[in-house]
Amino acid sequence: MNFKQPIDRFSQCQAIVCDLDGTLYLDQTPVDGASLFLSRILESRRKLFYFSNNTSKSRRTYLTKLEKMGFPVDDEYLITSADCAENYLKSRNLYPRIYLVGNNDLVADFAKRGFTCLGDEEALKAPLPAAVVLGFDTELTYQKIETCYHLILADVPYIATHGDVLCPVNKHQFKPDVGSFISLFETATGGGQPRIVGKPYKAAVEAICSRAGLPPDKIAFVGDRLYTDMRMAKQNNMAGVLVLSGETTLAMARESPDAPPIIVNSVTDLIEHL
Ligand SMILES: [Mg+2]
Repeated sequence: MNFKQPIDRFSQCQAIVCDLDGTLYLDQTPVDGASLFLSRILESRRKLFYFSNNTSKSRRTYLTKLEKMGFPVDDEYLITSADCAENYLKSRNLYPRIYLVGNNDLVADFAKRGFTCLGDEEALKAPLPAAVVLGFDTELTYQKIETCYHLILADVPYIATHGDVLCPVNKHQFKPDVGSFISLFETATGGGQPRIVGKPYKAAVEAICSRAGLPPDKIAFVGDRLYTDMRMAKQNNMAGVLVLSGETTLAMARESPDAPPIIVNSVTDLIEHL
C-alpha cells in the first residue's frame, strides 16, 4: 500500500481534535512534544479539542490530569462520550429520568446537566426511565447488571457511551471496557444491542461539529486507534491523522481498511505543519 502524506489536508483544518491516551499521553506520561504541539494549535488560531471515549472518570478528573501535564485546559476543550450521550438523549427527548450504569463520578456529571439518575429499585417501577445508559462503570455490581438487563428486555431505549472492547492501562496492558459489557447484555437478553454514541459513531461527529461550529471537512482528528479514531474520521470526511505513539503499529495500519493517508510517529511530527 502506498502511504503518501497529503499533510496539506491537515494544515488546512480549522479545528484539531485530539484523542488522549496513546496520542497525547501514555498512562501518566505525556508524549514528547505534546505540550508544544497543543500550544501551537492555539497560537495558530485553530480550535483545540480533546476527545475521550472513556466515561469512567469525571470531567474534572480529566481536566486536572491535562493541567498537571502542562497542556492548555478549558472546560470547553473537553468532549467525552458522556457529552455525546447527553446531547443524544436531550435531542431525542429521552430526558430527564434515566437509569445510568456508571461510576459515581459519571452519575454526578449527568446530574449536573439536569438528568435524574434513578436507583435500582426505582428504575424498575412504572413509569420506567426514558433510557438506560451504559457507561464505563468500574464500580459495576451484580445489582446494576440485573437492573440494566430487565430494562433492556422491557424495551427501554438502550444507549452505550462507547463500544471499545478494551481500555489501555499502559502500552502493553488492557482492561475490559464497555464493548465487553455490551457482549454480556447481548448474550443475556438474546441479542439486545445499544445505540452507541461515542467514537466512531454519528452522535460523536454531531457532538464534535456542534462544539467546533464547523463542518467535518474543516476538522482534523488525531488519534492512535484504528477502529474508533480513524474509522470515524474516514467515514465522516474528517482529516484523520494516525499517530504511532499508542496501540497501532505501521504493520497494523497497512492491514487496516480504516488507516488514513496521514500517518506520523507522534504529534511532534505535526508541529511544523501548523
Ligand atoms: Mg487512544
